[in-house]
Amino acid sequence: MRLLFREDPYLKTCAAMVTAVDARRVWLDQTVFYPHGGGQPGDTGTLRWDGGTARVADTVKGDSHEISVIVLVEGAAPPPVGAPLTATLDWDRRHRLMRMHTTLHLLCSLVDGAVTGGQVGPDKSRLDFNIPSGAVDKADLTERLNRLVAEDHPVAAGTITDEDLVANPDLVRTMSVRPPSGAGSVRTIRIGGSGTAPYVDYQPCGGTHVARTGEIGRVSVTKIENKGKQNRRVVVALDPPA
Ligand SMILES: [Zn+2]
Repeated sequence: MRLLFREDPYLKTCAAMVTAVDARRVWLDQTVFYPHGGGQPGDTGTLRWDGGTARVADTVKGDSHEISVIVLVEGAAPPPVGAPLTATLDWDRRHRLMRMHTTLHLLCSLVDGAVTGGQVGPDKSRLDFNIPSGAVDKADLTERLNRLVAEDHPVAAGTITDEDLVANPDLVRTMSVRPPSGAGSVRTIRIGGSGTAPYVDYQPCGGTHVARTGEIGRVSVTKIENKGKQNRRVVVALDPPA
C-alpha cells in the first residue's frame, strides 16, 4: 500500500483500486487518507466509484504501520473488491489538522519539559508537559508562537537511522506521532534550520504538516490547566480568520 500523504501531504484526492473489504472497512492499493495515530485523528472524506459513493467516517492503522484502513460511515454500501475509485479527503478539516499539528511542534520547541501526552484537533489541540506550576504563561506563549508563525520557517520531512536516533535521544521529545523504529530508519520533521541557521524543532514524526509555519496563521494559547503536580496541559487554538 502506497501512503501518498507521506510523499505529499497536500494531495487532496487520488485514484485507487480496492484490494479488500471487510464490513465497513476498505483497503486500497494507495491512499491519501492518514490513519489515526499518535494524537492526530484519521482522515474523513468520500469514495466514488462507477455506480456508487460512500462517506468515510475515519481512517485507522491496519496490522502494520504501513497500512491505512478506511472506515465507512454506518450503513454505507462498500465498493466491490477490484473496483477502481477516486478517494477524496475532506480537505478543509485535514488542512486545519496540518496547521494544528505543526503548531504543536512549535509549542514543543518553546517549553522546556518532557511531553507526556498530546492531541491534535481541527479547532484546538493540546500538549501535556511535565513542568512545575507557573513555568509557562498563556500570553507569553501566544506571543512567541505567533512570532514563529510570522517568521515563516520551512517545514521539511527527512529520515534518521535507528542508530542515529539512539545516539541522539534528545530528539525524542514527544509527540508519539512518530513511526516505530525497527525498519532501519524513522521519518523526521525539521522546522527551520536551513543553511547554517539553527532549527526551531526537529524530531521523529509520522504525521502531516504544512510546508511553512506562515501557513498556520495566527494562533492563541486558550488555556493552561493543572493536571496533577507536575503536569501542565497547554491548549492552543487556530484564531478565526480576521
Ligand atoms: Zn509532527
